[in-house]
Amino acid sequence: MKPICLLDMKIANMIAAGEVVERPASVIKELIENSLDAGATHITVEIKNGGISLMRVTDDGCGIPPIEASLAFERHATSKIATASDLEQIASLGFRGEALSSIAAVSHVELFTKTADSECGAHVILEGGKTLKNEGVGCPNGTTIVVKNLFYNTPARMKFLKKDATEAGVVADVVGKLMLGNPHVSFRFLNNGKEMYFSNGDGALLNGLVNVWGSAFRHAMLPIDSKQDGIHVTGLTGKTDAARANRTFQNIYINGRIVRSRTISMAVEEAYRNMLTVGRFPAFVLQLAINPMLVDVNVHPTKMEVKFSEERKVYQAVFWAIKSAMQIVQVIPEMTVKRPTFLQAVAEGTWVQQAFKQSYQAPAPQVAPKPTINYAVQEVQAHYEVPPQPPLQYIVEEVIQPIKDVVQETQTPYGPTVEILDETQAPPYRIVGQVFETYVIIERAGEMLLIDQHAGHERLIYEKLVKSYQTRAIVSQLMLVPVVVDLSAEEFGVVQDNLQVFSQMGFELEEFGNHSIIVRQTPIPLQEEALKTLVCELVSAFMANSQALTTQTELAMLYTIACKAAVKANRQLHGTEMAQLVQDLFAMPNINTCPHGRPIMLSLTKYQIEKEFKRVM
Ligand code: ADP
Ligand code: MG
Repeated sequence: MKPICLLDMKIANMIAAGEVVERPASVIKELIENSLDAGATHITVEIKNGGISLMRVTDDGCGIPPIEASLAFERHATSKIATASDLEQIASLGFRGEALSSIAAVSHVELFTKTADSECGAHVILEGGKTLKNEGVGCPNGTTIVVKNLFYNTPARMKFLKKDATEAGVVADVVGKLMLGNPHVSFRFLNNGKEMYFSNGDGALLNGLVNVWGSAFRHAMLPIDSKQDGIHVTGLTGKTDAARANRTFQNIYINGRIVRSRTISMAVEEAYRNMLTVGRFPAFVLQLAINPMLVDVNVHPTKMEVKFSEERKVYQAVFWAIKSAMQIVQVIPEMTVKRPTFLQAVAEGTWVQQAFKQSYQAPAPQVAPKPTINYAVQEVQAHYEVPPQPPLQYIVEEVIQPIKDVVQETQTPYGPTVEILDETQAPPYRIVGQVFETYVIIERAGEMLLIDQHAGHERLIYEKLVKSYQTRAIVSQLMLVPVVVDLSAEEFGVVQDNLQVFSQMGFELEEFGNHSIIVRQTPIPLQEEALKTLVCELVSAFMANSQALTTQTELAMLYTIACKAAVKANRQLHGTEMAQLVQDLFAMPNINTCPHGRPIMLSLTKYQIEKEFKRVM
């Protein structure tokens, strides 16, 4: 090992930059927050090449006195806090004094700034954190910061940047979020000279939201305004038909700061419970005004995470704010089937426990079914109201363990074992019919098969898609009516960067203004809503993958497409439909190796059935 030494300031700043400056969007976020802290009423943001070659933020805020202009770029230099007690109630967005030094460490920076009461402004130029110039200049009141060639001296970071359009999309997303968080400030955002967003600062949140999220949201939002336990919740929340396949359209602000908060997200989703189908997420902009003493924002360098000292109160305030906003729309009443609570069942000494005891105590060889733990858990969950947190552990500890303690454990599976079909032979078969509008029953050479119609169909389509995708031969279908899909700026950038993959997957997409796209062709016939969901899901898959797509993700995406196209469960099939499905499935080699774990077919042999009815032993 080398001897210990203190790192010089330049390297220390480059390391710190790694925490704060991850990509152009993080620089833009810090610069806009500084402008907001400076009391700006007009902020202009410009970027070129996704911000990598140029970012410029101009504001009409208080400016920096000439004597402090250079100091602003020193590490831990801040005008926002001075003492440790200030940390306990932070009212500004910044306070760590590390954004400017971090940004300057990894780029070329130029600053123009002037306060109202000084005659002359300051002009500072830095390169890699070193001040090259610091002199007086004539300029308007306020501050302009220009950042060029981000990561020019840290190639490792540079490598992690995505293509320009994707980075521009992430920047637009950040600008959009800050714009919605500050409706009283006028924002202008230009990407490669083209105006993307403009808000006039008149305080009308809905106008900004339509500007950033797209016009589809104009009539889809309900106003929120509610106060509880000193927490004031305002903003807009989406009607159920504005729900989306991902959580992109969810903005949370606490005292003007964009944050992520599990507590708040959970409260909102709980308020929407039973109103949205699984996999749909509400769209909302939530502004919380809360005493800064009760929020700790100093949890993470990017200040996105927060801690609340009174978590429950925040949860309650948000939950009820959303609920009361939604009273305006009619909600279909929820139907529930009341099941006995689990504790009641235990008190009554129910059959699950009885069955357990009996089967464990019965001497071998046994005729009675012998439950396994998995089976018991399923049974308990199916028949009783089990405490939600965490059901499995609860059942195992409360029911099964006590029984297991007294009897010897066996691992024999319960009763008629349902095996996954071994289909080496393909004898003739007879379609018996459909049950539960979901499963097709087939009789074939001494066994009864049960086919999950959705899983089976999905698999067929998937196989076909994969084959044609590999040979670049997916056949697209022209949509009778093209569908417009509204995307967030970030999603839109991702689509632009990956048009080729989309086209290889059989989609023909085009830009349709205000970061929406129009879909003209698809690989499979789809209804409008399903198509929108599918596009969003595919975009999410792209976003989850940093650089190039792996084969694994490509396959997962094809699987998603197949899933959307496949016949759903709970749909009655006609005789011909069933016949086609079964014929195609039997014609396919290796149908058992389902790519995603769910079986397609189950089999019950004649022998197993006869054994159950005690016709044979
Ligand atoms: P922090 O925001 O955490 O204080 P920064 O490194 O972002 O740290 O900025 C350092 C200081 O520079 C700020 O505290 C503020 O005094 C000054 N400053 C930065 N940007 C602006 C701006 N746009 N207008 C006025 N002052 C600014
Ligand atoms: Mg700052």
